Amino acid sequence: MSNSNNDTDNKFFSSADEFNVETLEDAQKIITQLRRSIRYHNYRYYILDQPVISDAEYDRLFNTLVEIEEKYPQLKSPDSPTQRIGAEPLDAFEKYEHETPMLSLQAVYTLKDLKDFVTRVKEELGKDNLDFIAEPKYDGLAVELVYQNGSLHVGATRGDGYIGEDITSNIKTISEIPLSLLKHGEQEIPASLTVRGEILMYKEEFNKLNQERVNNGEKPFANPRNAAAGTVRQLDPSITAERPLHIFLYELVGASDYGFETQWEALHEIVNWGLKVNLEKIALCPDMDALTNYYQKIGEERESLPYDIDGVVFKVNRLDLQQELGMRTRDPRWAIAVKFPPKRKVTDLKDVKVQVGRTGKLTPVAILEQVNIAGVEITRASLHNWSEIEKKDIRIGDKVLIERAGDVIPYVVKPLTEYREGNESPIPIPEECPVCHEEVTVSEDKKIVRCTNINCPSRRRERLLHFVSRKAMNIEGLGDKTVQKLIDKELVTTLPSLYDLTKEDLLSLEGFADKSAENIIEEIEKSKTKHPLDRFLYSLGIPLIGEYSSRVLAQNYQSLEDLMDTSKEELEEIRDIGPDIAESVVSFFSNKENRKNVKDLLEKGLKIYNPYQETERDLEGLTFVFTGTLENYSRTEIKDLVERRGGRATSSVSSNTDFLIVGKSPGSKLEEAKALDVQILTEEEFIEFLEKKKKE
Ligand SMILES: [Zn+2]
Repeated sequence: MSNSNNDTDNKFFSSADEFNVETLEDAQKIITQLRRSIRYHNYRYYILDQPVISDAEYDRLFNTLVEIEEKYPQLKSPDSPTQRIGAEPLDAFEKYEHETPMLSLQAVYTLKDLKDFVTRVKEELGKDNLDFIAEPKYDGLAVELVYQNGSLHVGATRGDGYIGEDITSNIKTISEIPLSLLKHGEQEIPASLTVRGEILMYKEEFNKLNQERVNNGEKPFANPRNAAAGTVRQLDPSITAERPLHIFLYELVGASDYGFETQWEALHEIVNWGLKVNLEKIALCPDMDALTNYYQKIGEERESLPYDIDGVVFKVNRLDLQQELGMRTRDPRWAIAVKFPPKRKVTDLKDVKVQVGRTGKLTPVAILEQVNIAGVEITRASLHNWSEIEKKDIRIGDKVLIERAGDVIPYVVKPLTEYREGNESPIPIPEECPVCHEEVTVSEDKKIVRCTNINCPSRRRERLLHFVSRKAMNIEGLGDKTVQKLIDKELVTTLPSLYDLTKEDLLSLEGFADKSAENIIEEIEKSKTKHPLDRFLYSLGIPLIGEYSSRVLAQNYQSLEDLMDTSKEELEEIRDIGPDIAESVVSFFSNKENRKNVKDLLEKGLKIYNPYQETERDLEGLTFVFTGTLENYSRTEIKDLVERRGGRATSSVSSNTDFLIVGKSPGSKLEEAKALDVQILTEEEFIEFLEKKKKE
């Protein structure tokens, strides 16, 4: 049996000492020890969240292993920690037959159903006292992992419960899933074992991924579950590897065969083997009160959990009693899922308002009789577009069903036509723009309705608001109301005309005093100083170009002029730039008015530089070391940046180090730097330092 001797921490490497590898035998020995050490540190980091070495130290161990494996390819092994990424894309997944079927659980929606379940189980077993184990019902993708002799052998989806898909190479890219089990507790690791759990994408990571997809002109995922499922079922594992996925395991198949008596015991032991269990959220419930409390408590926590859940699962804790209860055709008799009621309510659709966005797109918004859904007061909901309205036959005056899911804007699910009285009115596609009354164009599928007037005040307003926003030009003091007034009075008509605004103009507006007007003029003036190209591109409000795409463009073009004269073909060659984005960029810059706007902005004195195409070597002669997690850069990015500007980025602190940059949870380097009197900067101070250098 593998992994049986490494019980104590001090048998693991915690730093990459100089290894003396001269023979194949040496290499074999060191590789074995390195792999074991790295597995142990993975476990401390991913499973326990208690690393005992710094990230850099870990990287050094890892890189040493890579080096030795490169030198002795005959010693490579599929369960080495270095083998997470690298499998070739597949044409299709192999089928995988589950040895024990992965059945779903009986699902109910009320506490009364839960009570009936508990009563029935107690009666069948003839017991008054019975422990249940409670856990959240994750809204992710169910998977099965099979380990043989301690190594990950297969990862598979549930499929229809009997036959799933073999997704092993994708599963291997998920850091929370050990490629090799770790012997760390009381129990020996069985030679063959199967565990089951749920793969999840956290809400925050889901939102970020979707934002990137939208920026790239790709279709966003509907919810974290779809995103996780889509990611795990990628034929190209390198795509899976780029996306953050998590796992919680909740079942050791055939646990009683390994000598466990309860589900509780089995779950606590497999954690010691390096498998991730959400121990914090599981509970033992001895009676109906405890079950009810657990259900209600998790229900209250639901919104604030980092991952989606859609209910609670209760299982009889004792494994022998589970066996006694047995199975029905499709589900076990010893477990039940109590789902949360969907967050839907019925209210009146009072009116429909039409908004005009900065690209001229008209969007219908439902104005509702106020309704409280899961603690949030709702007065507006999305109607998507007129094609949806027509398909669902939604009318003003209808009673409508509203759903609110997660952080997404609530939307109208459907009208309840049985309540109609005959005086409801349909919602026609507007014939003109509600703001400027110019003509609109309607796409064939009726999904896109656009105001054709490029100078539509509503579009001007949205464009200007976007231009001054924090992530764009960041001009403070120009809020919603002021911008509206500037547009209404035509004091600002185009983006460049913002720079012609005078103090007197502002004073002519209601609510402005000397000081406040001066402040705004000062802010506008200040915005002319050096702007990174990506931020400027973002500010222009080119359709589909968000923060991410702006950055990609700046990374691939030397200057604004180069980008303005590029072709669709050239753009499409860039990874992460899809055809829709390419089209949008080219069509934006081929528009005369847009080109003039850009030219005028530059003539007004706006300074732009491309931070990704640095030519000045202003960090020459300086040596930097980084420790901890940085917020704005990955390690590679920051190293690149320093090196492009002529500096050196090294991995350990010495008397030659000029600066130590400290991120979140710094490692031992911080102490080393203090001891050597090396200058220490926070990430923020470092960014300021870079800016200052540039201006010198
Ligand atoms: Zn208009």
